[in-house]
Amino acid sequence: MSHSTNEKVRCLIIGSGPAGYTAAIYASRASLSPVLYEGIQPGGQLTITTEVENFPGRPEGITGSELMNDFKKQATRFGADIRMGTVTSVDFDKKPYKITIDGEKVIEADTVIIATGATANYLGLPDEQKYAGMGVSACATCDGFFYRKKTVAVVGGGDTACEEALYLSSLASLVYLIVRKPYLRASTIMQKRVKETPNIKLLFEHNAVGLFGEQGVEGACLIKRKGEPDEEKVSIAIDGFFLAIGHTPNAELFAKWLPTDEKGYIKTHPGTPRTGKPGIFAAGDVADPHYRQAVTAAATGCMAAIEAERYLLDIK
Ligand code: NDP
Repeated sequence: MSHSTNEKVRCLIIGSGPAGYTAAIYASRASLSPVLYEGIQPGGQLTITTEVENFPGRPEGITGSELMNDFKKQATRFGADIRMGTVTSVDFDKKPYKITIDGEKVIEADTVIIATGATANYLGLPDEQKYAGMGVSACATCDGFFYRKKTVAVVGGGDTACEEALYLSSLASLVYLIVRKPYLRASTIMQKRVKETPNIKLLFEHNAVGLFGEQGVEGACLIKRKGEPDEEKVSIAIDGFFLAIGHTPNAELFAKWLPTDEKGYIKTHPGTPRTGKPGIFAAGDVADPHYRQAVTAAATGCMAAIEAERYLLDIK
């Protein structure tokens, strides 16, 4: 297949969550004429949550989709070139870096800001989709507030699950922690906190296999000691079902070229969005296994654009 002359850009931004759009706002104001590709989920993970109440400057709260529309509007206002399209491969071997869009168009970029985010892992039950936005969530910090004085369940046995269960225990009246093994994987201190919290009920050796409810989630079907001779079906009444079984960073395309950690997150120089390659930066959840908040993603997007601007000045 022959390609027409490659388009050349100074700053290419991959991804359209808070990190990508914030990078676009800063890069366009710095006259880098950024081009941003939105990817397969324009607006990113926030578009699948309900209300966002913890984004500073939005005292009344806002839906995730509206917030991301505003980010986009703000980036467009300063001239960012926002395009539909998904990066399908990259060649970061040497400069200028080459990025292929939708398997066809090739763009040459002096700087690249990777803001492709992460995807929460789900169990893979059809009911998780059936009740999406109706009681199923993968973010307690985002949605926990809606379960004040209610009963919820968290699935997982790692630090995230314990953290989410503890957070929810301050809001909900009862939190079930559904753990597939007979023990928690989380750090000792988190385990201790969970065990000492009276309204967290640990369900070890339980697997969630389904959800039920008329208007939204009203309960979960579990199997205790699955596959054992004493296997037992258990049903619990809940209003919310939270997944905390890990996230997968959307970094596979880049792993060949950039150092990643054991979970696949792009490694950055501590406290900066710099990757192992000059002029390539990673911002937001794709490089953040710890905080994963819209505001922290936006902050690193801003940092990446400032880094890109300085890098371009230095190589002039
Ligand atoms: P982890 O990979 O540590 O834990 C995932 C948990 O989900 C495990 O208990 C695992 O079970 C369970 N799980 C995975 N798949 C399934 C499934 N299909 N069905 C049921 N259960 C499942 O992920 P985390 O997000 O908890 O943590 C990621 C990293 O971030 C860790 O290194 C953690 O220490 C760190 N972190 C640190 C925090 C802190 O220090 N405050 C807070 C949050 C995260 P199993 O144990 O059986 O494999």
